[in-house]
Parts: sequence; structure tokens; C-alpha cells
Amino acid sequence: MLSLWSAVLVSLLLGQQPAQPPQTPAAPAPPPPPTTGRPPTRADILRGEYGRYRANNDLLFYHLDVRVDPGKKWIGGKNTIRFRMLKDDTRIQLDLYANLNVDKILLGTTPLKYEREINTVWVDFPQPLKAGRDYTIEFYYSGNPQQGGRFGGMTFGKDPAGQDWIYTACEGQGAAVWWPNKDQWRDEVESMRISIAIPSALVDVSNGKFLGKTDLGDGYTRWDWTVQYPINNYSVSANIGNYVHFEDRLDGLPLDFYVTPGNLEGAKRQFAQAKGMIEAYEHYFGDYPFAKDGYKLIEVPYSGMEHQSAVTYGNHFANGYLERDWTGVGISPKFDFIIIHESGHEWFGNAVSAADVSDMWIHEGWTTYLENLYVEHRFGYADALKYVNGYKSKVRNREPIVTQRGIHRSPPQDMYFKGALFLNTLRSVVNDDQRWWKLLHDFFQHFKYQNILTEDVIAYFNAQLGAQLGRDLTPIFNQYLRRTDLPVLELAFNQSEGTVAYRWKADERDFAMPIRVGTADSWQVIQPTTDWKVMKTSLNKDTFDVATDLFYVNVSKQ
Ligand SMILES: [Zn+2]
Repeated sequence: MLSLWSAVLVSLLLGQQPAQPPQTPAAPAPPPPPTTGRPPTRADILRGEYGRYRANNDLLFYHLDVRVDPGKKWIGGKNTIRFRMLKDDTRIQLDLYANLNVDKILLGTTPLKYEREINTVWVDFPQPLKAGRDYTIEFYYSGNPQQGGRFGGMTFGKDPAGQDWIYTACEGQGAAVWWPNKDQWRDEVESMRISIAIPSALVDVSNGKFLGKTDLGDGYTRWDWTVQYPINNYSVSANIGNYVHFEDRLDGLPLDFYVTPGNLEGAKRQFAQAKGMIEAYEHYFGDYPFAKDGYKLIEVPYSGMEHQSAVTYGNHFANGYLERDWTGVGISPKFDFIIIHESGHEWFGNAVSAADVSDMWIHEGWTTYLENLYVEHRFGYADALKYVNGYKSKVRNREPIVTQRGIHRSPPQDMYFKGALFLNTLRSVVNDDQRWWKLLHDFFQHFKYQNILTEDVIAYFNAQLGAQLGRDLTPIFNQYLRRTDLPVLELAFNQSEGTVAYRWKADERDFAMPIRVGTADSWQVIQPTTDWKVMKTSLNKDTFDVATDLFYVNVSKQ
């Protein structure tokens, strides 16, 4: 290998600007490899595809109005769904788990026909609905929701004192596990009302602003909440228990906290971190995005979930993650992982949302990076760098982060940790923190309250940075998000000539990313591509270093 490389090197001039050998026009980069994994089932396609009967309408408003009976583990009521037709059509696709009953679906006073297929409900209208007009239907349902999945779906449990404790967390299963809706990621209602009737001794905490409660006179009380922003279906939640409430304010923003009575003191101590969290994220991205709805933390028995404006919390009222040092480098014990991570989703996940689960790194990669920004803001850059590099041990590099669209294929865990390390790498590519902070802020402001795909992220970054950096960033995004392997910086030392040849080994033929090399006290920026370049160096294979804490890459030295 070395002798072949020597022959290649001879043909190149040494120095900063090696002459380029005559080049044939580059072939276009091959498309990324297809997603690995099992073929989709009909259920996957019904759940994931944005087909004709979803695309023909645009959600405007839900009013979920239900009664929950803890004794019977039962839910029943209706969702009022308002939508605008985008095309003339006679059918729309809604979703409700097959184990729940459809009691009736009304357009005004007219009962509508429907067909059920797995967890989908095809709703048919007697006359064509007209493009541009708004329609309201009432979807009545009832039954015993399924428990299961990572956080329970809808769980009828008990708190430590033996009181009823009922909670929903359904990002995995989809909201249709407990209420009827258009259960996909692309389209959100503009606003929502949530009314939950429960035995009068209990408290319901849902998303949005609390409007009030009404005694129904039959032992039940209805709790009414209003959500004044777009909201993901899976983010809609009911948390029903024997909660005590305390409150605080951050400037004008109401902060409301709900915990079981035994944890009140612990919560008052631990939830004080919410203010510093909001201040840190506001520093980078601008105002808390759901100000009219307020910010809430609500105790639950599972670890936590980013329910919009109603973040659920089960992290033992202690720092770290379930009392562990989450990235194993001594930084995580300085803060409460669930408060910092799940609340970070208010910015990425809830305000900026992915339009397909395939692109969920927009939620998890970004929010994991937000943890890192929090650490930098609170504890300084050195801690942040240590913290983000602690994530390397969690990365697998077994399949791409972005999965196939339209089949509801959840991305691998790499979307969190490799996603955050990728964003930390991009900061180093930009190599100008003032510009980087402005870019993050503007990116969030540009896309807040929208549902976007990776292409939108790339187009925005290219528009803001492409001219400054003199390059199209698409191959960098593609290599990290749509390919399995990390880029490898290949270095070939020629000690007798005092040179090192370098290039990227990457799946993307056009991959070109600057990187810092040499020694940590005086990094030198080089501009490797996937073709060899050669430069002089006084360092050798052992002393020539690469800034792998700033750039998440592999290095191969020969
Ligand atoms: Zn998350």
C-alpha cells in the first residue's frame, strides 16, 4: 500500500496548494443506501403514509372531551375535529386503536359511515366535501385503552399512597392508543381544547392553560385546558392523580408544578432548576415558545416525556438520569437530566417538529445538543466539551439516522448521541462562535411552529453558511445522517520527505470538511476532500494529532 501511495504522492506538488491532477467530471454522488430492517406491514403503512385521505385535508382544531373512570379503567367521550379540505373528496383517514369502540361519528346531526382497518378509521361523507371549506365532525368513542410500550400508552395505576394515578405517554404507540385523531406527524391542529372529567377528589393536568373546573354533580369534575399553539398528537396528555400544586414565575411566564404530596419538599428543591433551564435555552434560541400556555412540570412514575407545556417528570427528584451519571464523565450529576432534556423539547420537538418520524433526529439530536448548550451556559465550555464527548460511547454506527419515510420506521438510538455530536462538529466546521450562535437562534425562529424534514434543515444551513464556507454542506449532512459510517480522516506519513498525505474516506464522494490537525495548542485547519492532498509537517505519526473532541470522526494513520 505504501509504495502505491508514494507513486501517487510523487504526482502531487507539496505545500498548501497542491496542483490538482487533470480531472474527469465527477460522477454524481450515489443515492444513500436504503433503510435496513424488516419490510413494512399494512399497519406500518396505515400509520406512516401521508396518503390521499390524509393529504386531502388540513387540521385546524380538536376538542377532546372525555370522562375517565379509574375503577373500570375506562375512557369515553368525543373528539370534535375541525379541518379544512384541500381537495374535493368524500373520505378522510382518522385513527383509533382497534380495541376501542367507535360509538358514532357525526357531521352536524348526520351520522357518518365509516370502515375500520387495523387502527385506522376511514370516514365517508354522503356528499363530496369541498376544497377550501372548513368542516367539523364529532367522533364519539369509548373503551378500555391498552397499556404497553416504553411509557405505558394510557396507564391506570396507583400512587405510593394507593390513590388512583392515571397517565398517558404514547409517542411510540401513537395518540390513537387513547383518543381518535389524525394520527401522523405532518399535520397539526392550530389549537386545541382538552376537557377531562374525573372523580372529584382527583386532579387532571393536561397541556396548555388551565381554564377552570366544573363540578358535574355526579361525583365527577371536569378539568378544562386550552392549548393556544400547534401541538403534536402524541404530546397531548392527561395526568390524573392526587396532585398538590405550587407555582412560581419567570418574568411574566407562569411556572406550575404538580407532584404527589409526599414529594412536595423534594420537588420544591429540584424544580428550582426549571428557571435556569429556561433562561439558558432562551439565551440561545429566544423566548420560551409556549408563553401563553405557561410551563409545567408534572410528576409521573416513568422517567419523563416532553408533553408540550406540560412536561412529565419521574427522575427521582435527583440530579443525573435516574441517579446515574448519564454520560459517565462527571458532568451529568451537576443537573437534573429529565428537566433539562425533556424541557429542551419545547424548542425542538414541540415548537420545531419533524414532519415524519424518519426525521426524528430533529427532535432528539437537537435536544441532546441542547443539553450540551445548557451545560456550556451554566458550567462553561470545558464541561460542555467533556459532556458531549461522553456521548461517543453510546453511538453504534450500525444504520443511518434518517429512516425510510412513510412507513413510521423509528430511527435508531444514534439519532440522539450521534445527532448531538454531529451538531457539535458543525459548530467546529463553522469555526466562528458568533456566527454559530446567530445561526442556531435564527434557525429556531425561522422554523418554530412548523413541521419540517431534514431537507429543510440542510437548505437553511446552506443558505446561511454556504457562501461563507464556500461549500455545499449537503454531503456533510448526508454522511452523518443518511450513511452508516463516520468519515475517516486517512493520514499517510512520509517521514523521509517530512510530509503527510490526507483525505476523507467517506461514502459521499463530495464529502469535504475542514478539520483541525497538528497539536492542540496550535491547531492548523486543513481542507481535506475525498482526494489526496499532501502537506509538509514536522510532526510524525505519533505526535500528529487530530481535534477529535471538536469533530466527530475516525482517524486512520499509516
Ligand atoms: Zn428526547
